[in-house]
Amino acid sequence: MLAHEDVLLNRARLIAETPIPAVERAGVLLPLPLTGPYDYKLPHGINAARGMLVAAPIGSRESLGVVWSSPEGNVGDNRLKIAEPLEGLPRLPATLCDFIDWVAAYTLNPPGAILAMALRSRGAFEPEARRIAYVKGDTVPARLSDARRRVLTVAEDGLARSVPGMAEDANVSPAVVRGLIQRGALKPTELPEFAAFRTPDPQFAAPELNPDQKSAAEILRGAVKEKKFSAHLLDGVTGSGKTEVYFEAVAEALRQGKQTLILLPEIALTVQFLERFAARFGIRPAEWHSDLSQKERRRVYRAVMGGECQVVVGARSSLFLPFAALGLVIVDEEHEQAFKQQDGAIYHARDMAVVRARTENCPVVLASATPSLESFVNAASGRYSHLKLASRHGVAELPEVRILDLRHEKDTDENAKWLSTPLRHALEQTLAAGEQALLFLNRRGYAPLTLCQACGHKFTCPHCSAWLVEHRYRRRLACHQCGYEIAAPNECPECQAKDTLIACGPGVERVAEEFAHFFPNARYAIASSDTLHGPAETQAAIRAFAKREIDVLIGTQIIAKGHHFPQLTLVGVIDADLGGADGDIRARERTFQLLHQVSGRAGRAEKPGLVLLQTRNPQDAVMQALANSDRDGFYEQERLYRERVAAPPFGRLAAIVVSGGDGEQVRVIARQLGKAAPPAKDIKVWGPTPAFYSLLRGQTRERLLVQAAKGVDMQAYLRAWLANVKIPAAVRAAVDVDPISFF
Ligand code: ADP
Ligand code: ZN
Repeated sequence: MLAHEDVLLNRARLIAETPIPAVERAGVLLPLPLTGPYDYKLPHGINAARGMLVAAPIGSRESLGVVWSSPEGNVGDNRLKIAEPLEGLPRLPATLCDFIDWVAAYTLNPPGAILAMALRSRGAFEPEARRIAYVKGDTVPARLSDARRRVLTVAEDGLARSVPGMAEDANVSPAVVRGLIQRGALKPTELPEFAAFRTPDPQFAAPELNPDQKSAAEILRGAVKEKKFSAHLLDGVTGSGKTEVYFEAVAEALRQGKQTLILLPEIALTVQFLERFAARFGIRPAEWHSDLSQKERRRVYRAVMGGECQVVVGARSSLFLPFAALGLVIVDEEHEQAFKQQDGAIYHARDMAVVRARTENCPVVLASATPSLESFVNAASGRYSHLKLASRHGVAELPEVRILDLRHEKDTDENAKWLSTPLRHALEQTLAAGEQALLFLNRRGYAPLTLCQACGHKFTCPHCSAWLVEHRYRRRLACHQCGYEIAAPNECPECQAKDTLIACGPGVERVAEEFAHFFPNARYAIASSDTLHGPAETQAAIRAFAKREIDVLIGTQIIAKGHHFPQLTLVGVIDADLGGADGDIRARERTFQLLHQVSGRAGRAEKPGLVLLQTRNPQDAVMQALANSDRDGFYEQERLYRERVAAPPFGRLAAIVVSGGDGEQVRVIARQLGKAAPPAKDIKVWGPTPAFYSLLRGQTRERLLVQAAKGVDMQAYLRAWLANVKIPAAVRAAVDVDPISFF
C-alpha cells in the first residue's frame, strides 16, 4: 500500500469524513511555525482523518498535532515516527481546519502558526479529571441522629453532591457526612470535571420590537434558518436597538440547536454585555478572552468542541475555537480597530469572521452605528444585506452637535486654555440643571510633551521614536509605546537649566486640572485606558458616574463606547482635530467614527443632548458631517475619494515592516527587499521608508507598502517577492495584508 496513490490524492479534496487511505501514514500539522504538515505513521488499525488530534514526537519532545493531509511520502518508512491519537476527544472540525488553511494562505503565515492560535488552550486536551461526589447508598443505619437524618433527607433527591456541598445543604458538619459514607449510607459516584453549560432560553425575555427592528430581525431569523452563508450589515444609530435585533438571531440559532459566536472588540465591554445577555436569555453566555483562567479556558474549549456550549462571547481569538455546529457569527462594533491583531500573525478579526462564516456556511452579522467604509461599500453594492435602524428606540432623540471654532473664540479668562467660553457656559448650565457632562480628549496623561524653554530639549523615549508623556499625579514621564518611565525631572538634562521645563499640550489630567479650577465644587473623575490609572479605577469611575456620584467624567476613548448614562446631556470634545495622521487613508473615517460614538453618549434618555466640538478646522468634512448629522453624505464622499485614489476597498494594500535591533542591518535588508520587488502590472511598491515609529521598543523599523489593483493576487505576488530575498535571523519582515494602521 504505498505512496504513489497517496501522492496523487489532492490535499484540497480531504475533508474530515473521508478517511485518508494510507492507513499508516498521514501529514500531521504541528502548532509551530513550520512550512507545512510533516509525515508521521499512525498506529495499526487507526484510520487517519483530517482534524484528528494526536501526540506527535518532534525532536526530543512531544507536541500536540492534528492530522491534516495526505502524507508527502518523501521520507522512508523506517524513519517516520509514530503519532498517537489522543483518546476521548472529538476531532477538530474539518471546517476549522479549512479556515486555518485559508487564514494562513491569506495572511502569508505558516499554517502551523495559525493552528497554534486554535490550540492555545493549554490543558484542553488532557484527560478529564473526574470529580467524586456522593449519592444515597444502599444501606440505611438502624439508628439515626437528627443530623444524619437531615443528610439522608437531602440526598433523597438523587443529586450527586460533594462532601462540603452535602454538609451545607443539610446544615450539618462535614464529619456527619463522612460518617454516613463510612457506613455505606452514602456512596461515591463520578461526575464530569465541569458542571454542564446550561442552554440560554430563547423565550426568556423577548422584547416587543418596533417596526424597523422587526423587519431586520425577521431577515436575520430567516438567514439563520436557511443555514447558508450570508452577510448582513446591521446599521443603526447608537441606541436604536441593534443588540436587541441580533439577539433575535441568536434566539433563532438556539431554537435550531446551532452555536453562536459574538465577537466584541474589547474585554472591557464584556462584563456589561454578559449581564445584558443574561437579562434577555436567562443565563450568561460563555466568555473567551485572554483574562480567563486556564481552568475556565479548558472548560469552555471542551464544551465548544463537544457542542454543549451554545453561545460564546469573545475577543478576536474566539474566532479559532472548534465549534461543533456554528450557526451564526456576530461582530459587534464591527468598525473597531481593535479587531485587527497587530502582533504575531497579523489578521483582521472582522474580515476573518466573514471567512469563518463562509467556511461554516452560516450567516454573519456586522453591527455598527458607524460601519467601516469597506462594509458600507459591500452593503451598498448588495454583497451584504443592509439592515437599517433609523432612529433611537423610544423617546430618545439624537443630540444636537455644534462646532466651536477655536480660531475665533477669544477667551475672557487667561486661565482657560482648553475649555473655551461657550463650553464653560454649557458646563455651568448642565451642572445647574443637575445633569451630567462628559469631557472627551483622546490623550492619556497630563501633557504629551515636555520641553526645555532654554535649549529646546524634548524628552523622548530612548527605545522608541516617541515623546515621553507627563503623568503629573504620579510625577513620572512615561513612554506610551513601551512603558519606559523616568521620574519627572526638575532640570534640563541637556543644558542643566532649572525651572525651564514646560508641559506642552493637554492630556486628560490637564483638562481635569483646568476643570477643577473653574468648577471647584463639581464632582469629577478621570477615566482613561491607562495602565497607569488601572482598569479597575476606570471601571469604578464609570460606575460612579452611572450612579450619579460624580457630575463630570473626563476621559479618553474608553468612555466612548457601550455605556448608557441617562442623565448625561452634555458632551464636550476638547480637541476634535486629534487623530488625523497624515498619509493614513483611514484617518478621516476613524475620526468620524470616534467622534460620532462619543457624541452618541449624550441624551440617551428623555432629556435632549448637546455636543460641542472644539476644532480649528470647522470646514473639515468630518466636522461638517457631524454638525449636520449627515453620516451617509460623509461616507459617500469618502467612498468617492477612495475610489479615485484606488485605495481599499477599491484597490488592495499590503505592508511589509522590516525590523530588528541593528538599525543599519534593518535599513540594508529593507533596501534589498525593495530592489527585489518583481515588476508587475497593476502593482506599485513604495519605500522602504522609516515607519512612523521608526524606533519601537528598541527595534528599528522600515516600511514598504504594496499598492495593487483590486483583481491582483496580492498573496501570490508577496510570496514570489519574499522568496527572492534571504532575511537573516536577526531581522524580521512582518507582512500585513490589508493594513489599517500606518505606524
Ligand atoms: P444599540 O445596540 O443599537 O446601541 P441597544 O440594543 O443597546 O441599541 O438599545 C438601546 C436601549 O434601548 C437598550 O437599553 C435597549 O434595551 C433598549 N431597547 C431597544 N429596543 C428595544 C425594544 N424593542 N423594547 C425595549 N427596549 C428596547
Ligand atoms: Zn518607548
